[in-house]
Amino acid sequence: MAVAAGDAVRWVELSADVMVAEREHLTKLDSAIGDADHGANMSRGFQAAVEKLSADSPGEPAAVFKSVGMTLLSKVGGAGGPLYGSFFMKLAEPIGGSEQLGPEEWMAALRAGVEGVKARGKAEPGDKTMIDALMPAVEALETAVAEGASFASALERSAAAAEQGARATVPLVARKGRASYLGERSAGHQDPGATSSHLLLRAAAEAWG
Ligand code: ADP
Ligand code: MG
Repeated sequence: MAVAAGDAVRWVELSADVMVAEREHLTKLDSAIGDADHGANMSRGFQAAVEKLSADSPGEPAAVFKSVGMTLLSKVGGAGGPLYGSFFMKLAEPIGGSEQLGPEEWMAALRAGVEGVKARGKAEPGDKTMIDALMPAVEALETAVAEGASFASALERSAAAAEQGARATVPLVARKGRASYLGERSAGHQDPGATSSHLLLRAAAEAWG
């Protein structure tokens, strides 16, 4: 399996479906430690991204990722929109005009995307943000690729690491974003952004595995 433009679009479509399906769950998580808009932000943003892609029909994966990044940056407010916008813009950078992505290219893209979120939001692992799902996901992907795992298995391991990372945000005290205003009271709840990051990586494993 290699990821061509149509497969990249498929990932975005599956992501939109899952964000819509999990909208209430994300809203609930964000109402506990934020302002209850993460479900709406993600489902609206990804639906807009799908619409834009069907108008654009980009020719290679990098163009798909850039289109999604631009849509999220322009259509989604709050912290989540710009952070996921940067994530998708940065995914495009290491892969240039490649028509098909294999595991190594996806690994380079995901590493760049995660570093983009870090650069923009200045969060470190343990701050109770989407970084807590994204960072383990890219690390698991790198380990799997180094071990010569198949693309499907590498994607599965990356999604599983993101899920674990999202669950592991529950006891943490938030140090970045809106949840940090709650201080110690942010502990005991799963971070909404880490949860949506897991959903994205799960959708990639489903779309490309
Ligand atoms: P807002 O917090 O502005 O309402 P969202 O609800 O869409 O935006 O997104 C909230 C999520 O954004 C949080 O759960 C967290 O994962 C993520 N987040 C917030 N600030 C940062 C940051 N500085 N770095 C990385 N992720 C962040
Ligand atoms: Mg919010």
